Amino acid sequence: MTTHDEHADAASRAAALLSELTAGEPRGSWSAPGRVNLIGEHTDYNDGFVLPFAIDRRTSVVAAERSDGMLRVASTFADEPVEVALADLPDLFPGSDVPEWAAYPIGVAWAAVAASGISPTRGLDLAIASDVPVGAGLSSSAAIEGATAAALNDLWSLGFDAVALARIGRTAENDAVGAPTGIMDQMAAMLGRTDAAIFLDCRSLDTDVVDLGFAAAGLDVLVIDTGVKHSHATGGYRDRRDSCERGAHALGVPALRDVSVGDLARAQRLLDDTTFRRVRHIVTENERVRETVATLRAEGPRAIGGLLLASHASMRDDFEISVPELDTAVEVAVATGAIGARMTGGGFGGAAIALVEHAAVERVGDAVRAAFDAAGYGAPTIFTVAASEGARRDT
Ligand code: ADP
Ligand code: MG
Repeated sequence: MTTHDEHADAASRAAALLSELTAGEPRGSWSAPGRVNLIGEHTDYNDGFVLPFAIDRRTSVVAAERSDGMLRVASTFADEPVEVALADLPDLFPGSDVPEWAAYPIGVAWAAVAASGISPTRGLDLAIASDVPVGAGLSSSAAIEGATAAALNDLWSLGFDAVALARIGRTAENDAVGAPTGIMDQMAAMLGRTDAAIFLDCRSLDTDVVDLGFAAAGLDVLVIDTGVKHSHATGGYRDRRDSCERGAHALGVPALRDVSVGDLARAQRLLDDTTFRRVRHIVTENERVRETVATLRAEGPRAIGGLLLASHASMRDDFEISVPELDTAVEVAVATGAIGARMTGGGFGGAAIALVEHAAVERVGDAVRAAFDAAGYGAPTIFTVAASEGARRDT
């Protein structure tokens, strides 16, 4: 729209955008974070376990009421605001022709109306700005969904709890945007806590807050965004899902969550080599998530390095979703002092994380940048994240 102060935080940029949009009084400011998955990759759609944490980069939504029955969304990310009539919301998705970005916030409104059964008549202007990099594997999508859901929950007095709002975000992403994702990202964005992770059972949706103790131990989490776009992501994701379903079917279980490490010898006899290795990743990854939780609680964060590395090796060798840039990031980080490191996210590109002593952050970052340069890879984007609070009202 117009030029914005790039250095102001998301909440002030959203407020500035709202004031360009309307003379209406701001009714409040809400925000939700992106997330990093500490461990537990591709386990979500196998009814398994994940351990994400919310990060200190947030998306903000500032809202004003309108006197007509229109819902208008604007984002610093987009050129033009998008407007729909509230009366048209119930039948808007699937199949709406709103621009893709607007399907996130408007999809949340659509899913919130469907879940609550209310028919809001008072219009709203929602202005959105974000500090979560888009498409870097930090779930800017769950951040925009969570911030919008938290705003509408208050503005429309819906009375939903955090888990219900996470489900609304997921419905928006699956059925309004059309992205077939699990609920991990939305749960992390809604339930996150300072210096803690969310242990999520993707079958029951039971959650447990697990203290990370990174701050007290003087540890930082370094995100190394390789800049490699997930070029095979869609096809690769579908193929891995199919392998997991095939494996579960051959083993006679509803989901790979029901296969234990002790069952792997039998699985190896029953399955072809590729399917077996896909299954072994899921089974051992579920075990590593549980071990990470137990280790954090019993011994603290310095003891989880080996689990992070084993997770990476399993994704590289058994699930085969790594790329050379991610392997280099992990190897160089560990060689220069990281306690542990692994690729994070769906794979075929995206980011790695490294758990690093505060004093070693610069050394590790410099070494990774130098290694990428020497290998002829594009320059990575490297920054630290801290585990932070989930969605909230800020003002
Ligand atoms: P990721 O969640 O890994 O960042 P996704 O592809 O799942 O990547 O979601 C990114 C999409 O979400 C963007 O392409 C855009 O459509 C939407 N989005 C995220 N943040 C914003 C924002 N601040 N304003 C508008 N749209 C956004
Ligand atoms: Mg996303």
